[in-house]
This record gives sequence, structure tokens and C-alpha cells, in this order.
Amino acid sequence: MEQKCKYIFVTGGVTSSLGKGIISSSLAKLLQARGYRVTIQKFDPYINVDPGTLNPYEHGECYVTDDGAETDLDLGHYERFLNVPTSQANNVTTGRIYQTVIENERRGDYLGKTVQVVPHITDEIKRRMKLLGDSGKFDIVLTEIGGTVGDIESLPFVEAVRQLLWEMGEDNAIVIHLTLVPYLKAAGELKTKPTQHSVRFLLESGVKPDILVCRTEHHLNTDIRRKIALFCNVNVNAVIESIDLETIYDVPLVMLKEKLDKVVLSKLKLAAKQEPELLQWKEFLQHVKHPKHEVNIALVGKYVELPDAYKSINEAFIHAGAASECAVNVKYFHSELLTDENVADKLRNFDGVLVAPGFGNRGIDGKLVAIKYVRENNIPFFGICLGMQCSVIEFARNVLGYKDAHSTEMNDGTKHAVIDMMASQKTISQKGGTMRLGAYDCVLTKGSSVSRAYGKTKISERHRHRYEFNNKYTAAFEKAGMMITGTNPETGLAEIVEIPTHPYFIGVQFHPELKSTVENPHPLFVKFIKKAMTLRG
Ligand code: GLN
Repeated sequence: MEQKCKYIFVTGGVTSSLGKGIISSSLAKLLQARGYRVTIQKFDPYINVDPGTLNPYEHGECYVTDDGAETDLDLGHYERFLNVPTSQANNVTTGRIYQTVIENERRGDYLGKTVQVVPHITDEIKRRMKLLGDSGKFDIVLTEIGGTVGDIESLPFVEAVRQLLWEMGEDNAIVIHLTLVPYLKAAGELKTKPTQHSVRFLLESGVKPDILVCRTEHHLNTDIRRKIALFCNVNVNAVIESIDLETIYDVPLVMLKEKLDKVVLSKLKLAAKQEPELLQWKEFLQHVKHPKHEVNIALVGKYVELPDAYKSINEAFIHAGAASECAVNVKYFHSELLTDENVADKLRNFDGVLVAPGFGNRGIDGKLVAIKYVRENNIPFFGICLGMQCSVIEFARNVLGYKDAHSTEMNDGTKHAVIDMMASQKTISQKGGTMRLGAYDCVLTKGSSVSRAYGKTKISERHRHRYEFNNKYTAAFEKAGMMITGTNPETGLAEIVEIPTHPYFIGVQFHPELKSTVENPHPLFVKFIKKAMTLRG
């Protein structure tokens, strides 16, 4: 029987952080640009059911899909590159696999049998690996296996891949292995041994890679390519160089030059169709690399030591900057270090300030100090989720005079709970997967700054929070000049606050950064950058 969907498995060796997510996204982009319907899924070997309960220091940002899945940050790259939404099915962890198998066992599905890693866990991995392909919506599914081959916890995934390769046949499923070719300064040489070892490990697991993508700081010459091909049992044209680049958005074009897409298509017996249609991508890249303008933005947050914690916000700035041919220089400020005494010195020279999302009490005071300063000094402000909630608290305290105003997340005894837990949240005791998650509709006030930015009054944005603006205070806030300009049509929850008398003061309860892509920069980021540019003069 002719199999409809083709599969590409992407594994990694030698070390983590080689950029499997970017390579997968770039290849998928090229295949999409040739006219194929492509999606990418990620299988993560850790035992958390999803990364929603992980601290950003552990695993970077938690990315949220339209259908409310809390996922790995690589899904953000997939969406930003492909401009196609992902879903719960695109990210699966060991925890989720075991959860399903154990639920099946308790229901009695395996009655009489001993439940084992092989075949029960591997069967569940395989079932999930094929789900998106079986939907009929895609011609090609890329599956990225998180972690590094050789890790104990990756073994069931590699075994599942081995079985699928055998079941599907070599024209329908291939493996791309990403490795590192380090440069030894003392020897003045690139070293292929780690790659050989990592491929040997894969071979011992019964998986033969079809293509090797080699991360390197120096170009691979023909001799090195031949050597890798010979010792790793692949064609010379299947040794692909992935050299360090100025921006991740260069990677698809460099992979095109290396002919990664062509090698993949020929192995999968697929037609090359057209030359990749990448006009808009190239134009975007041109704007990123040769900006005509520049703005300086301060990002106030508490996970600033780890830029991955704010990955989508950083990328959204790049997209929005490119839309205005403007370089956006983002400087991080640790909110714990901002005080009434130093805030003017620190923020005075910035063209805009973004206060980041977050959880818990640490660093809240610094966020309030920053917001007071930008509100009083007409510096463009953009508050996201906790950043929006802080702008409400700051306004309540310093404009409305509710001195103890707070969110009940930080102080549940406050007399002025301007941010409070949603009623529907109060009975929840489980932490994982129970926040207000995923896409919700929002209706914008006609004539508001946000409705002008979006160019419409009905939008949908993604959420991830437990607390909300307390509508008991709406009248008081609006009378004093902070307007609710976006509300959820079903529940009446306030989703956006604005101060219309300020040049740009917008706080959003949702996460606009999660919907910004290369092709569709987010309107609120675009407007924020434009405002920052104009005020800078
Ligand atoms: N901690 C806040 C809440 O749960 C904000 C969450 C966020 O910024 N994502 O409502």
C-alpha cells in the first residue's frame, strides 16, 4: 500500500544545544516553500507530563499552543518559521507516554500481560509519532527527538524510531542526525571522532542515519566530508555543514545552499516540485541585517540571566523590528535590582520598556517601580501578563490611592485585590495544566489604540495565567484614566488595559509574543516599536 505521509526523524548526538529545533524548522521551511504541507513534532524524554510545571531556568520558556497545550520552546520556532499553528499533538513527553500506558493498564486494556517498555511504551510512542501524519493534513512530518542519543531516557524513543523505519521502509522514513564537529585550536584541526562515536552509538541501536548535519565553527572541506561519509556510512552529499551564523533566520538559506532539502526529497522519493518560494523570507532577512533605524528597549523581568526564558518576546521584537526596518536592541533588567532611587538612571535613556510575564512575588516591587517611572515620564510601555497585572497594581496604588492594592497571588489578605484569582480557579488543587490556557476571543473597544493597531475589533490570543483583573474596580480605574479596551465576550474578563493620555501604555493579559511569526509580526509589537521610533525622533 502506498503510504501517504513521509517521515523525517531528527536525532542529536555529541552534545545538547546543537540547534535541532532550528535545523528542523529550517528544513521544514524549505520543504514548505517547495509546496509541501509540513509539520514538526517534538518528543521529549523527560518525565514531566508537560513542561508547564518547569521553572524557566530549567528549560527556558514554556510555549502555549492555541489548543492550550503547555509545550517546549522549540514549538515556538516551528510556528515562527512555518507560520502554521501547532497543537497538543506536536509535543509529547515520556511522562505523557507513561501516563497513557498506565491509564490503559488500570482500565484493563492489557489484562493478563506484563506491561513493558518494549512493546507497550514503544507502541504508544509509535502511535503518537504517527498521529499527525495519519490526520491527512500533512505530506511530511518531521519528528525531533529531544536530548542526545546515548542518554538512558532516550532509548525507548530511538527504539520506536528503529521500528518505524523498518515498518515504513526507506522511501517513506529517514533519519537526520545532528552532531558537532569541534575545532581543536591547539591542533589547528576539525575533529570528526565525536561524530563517528555518536553515529556508532546510533548504529548499535539499530538506526542508520541517512543524513548527517554537522554543527561547526569552521567550514568542512571535501576531505573532512569524505572522511565523515566513509566512517559514518552515508553518502558524501548527505554530509551537511551547519556553520555558526549571525541569526537563526539565516539557517534555511544556508541549508538550501547545502542542498539539505534536495537530499531529503531524493531519499524520500519525492519530487523537488518548484524552487523554494522564499521571497518574503529574504526580504525579512534583509531588514534584519541592514536596518535603517534603531531603538533601545528595556525588558524588565526576573529570569534575565537566561535569555531563553523570554525567547518568544525576543523573536517578536526581531519580527516587529524588521517590519519597520529597525534594529531593536533589547537590554535586560533584573526587576529585583530596580529601586525608586536608581530607576531614573537605569531607564531614562530607553525608547520603550516591556515588563515581562512571570509568577510569584520575587521581583514584583522592581516591576512596580519601573512602571511608575514610565507612566509618569511618558516612555512607551508594554506589559505582558504579569506585566499587565503589575501595571494595574501600580495604577491602583499611585493613582487611585489604594496603598495596599495587590494581586492575591502575592498577598491574599489585601483590602484591594485589584488582581484576583478567577472563581473557576479557586477549587483547583492540581498545578499541572490547570491555568487559563490557550486561545480565547477578545473584543476591542472601537477607537482604542489597540483596535487601531490590530485594524479590527475581534481578535483571538493565547493565555497562560490563573489571575485576572478584578472587574469590581473597572469604574474606578476608567474614571481615573486607565481604560479596559479588550474584554472576553463570554466571560467579561478584562484582557487589555490602556492609558489613552499616555503616548503608549498598554498592558495585555494574554501573550501576544506567542503569535508573532516571520510572516506575521504581531501588531502590538509592531506598534510598540513604531511608537518607540517616533518618540526617539
Ligand atoms: N502569575 C500570573 C498569573 O498566574 C501571571 C502569569 C504570566 O505572566 N504568565 O495570573
